[in-house]
Amino acid sequence: MNTIRDLIWPRRCVICHRPVGPAGERLCPACAAAIPEPISGAKRGANYRRWVAAFWYEDDFRASILRFKFGGCSFYADYYGPWLARAVEQRLGRDFDLLTYVPVSPLRRRRRGYDQSRLLARAVGALLGMEPVSTLHKSSRHRPQSRTVDREERQSNIRGAFRIRDPEAVRGKRILLIDDVLTTGATVSEAGRVLLEAGAKSVDVAALAVTPR
Ligand SMILES: [Zn+2]
Repeated sequence: MNTIRDLIWPRRCVICHRPVGPAGERLCPACAAAIPEPISGAKRGANYRRWVAAFWYEDDFRASILRFKFGGCSFYADYYGPWLARAVEQRLGRDFDLLTYVPVSPLRRRRRGYDQSRLLARAVGALLGMEPVSTLHKSSRHRPQSRTVDREERQSNIRGAFRIRDPEAVRGKRILLIDDVLTTGATVSEAGRVLLEAGAKSVDVAALAVTPR
């Protein structure tokens, strides 16, 4: 479908950002053919069990996610959704009772106009047959994490950033928690802590991308 945007700017590939044809997909054939295998692992000493990411946070994928988060390209969620859903199905399975996400603060959401992880959760949920539930509230006083601080500092910076909206909604649930980018895992671990404290049975994490170590 063409939009006003297309009349002003040429349609560009979601991943490599090279111009694509005026109609149809926003994914060039080269990128469509080169979608990588998901990356996954288990996390020891964190408040979640397993994690999966659709791709590494580097090169074209990193630039793509930055456009998604900060460049107003909220529609990218529709493209990311199938890749993330595939990653979840392949590496984590489908045994989840509740789909939720790591929210941005209300202040940030107002400035940006959307919450990117909520959009991701909705796109993934449409494919997994689950409606995402907003379970966490993020305080606006918490600053986004900087890459210059070390792991311990990140963990203490993020401590207390989230509170549960409705404990009844998470009690006894096996939760799939969606986030955009996994860095140290401190943010999802803190979100996981709050969910587990509220009575969640388990927390597994699916992120769009993970930073290379
Ligand atoms: Zn491309």
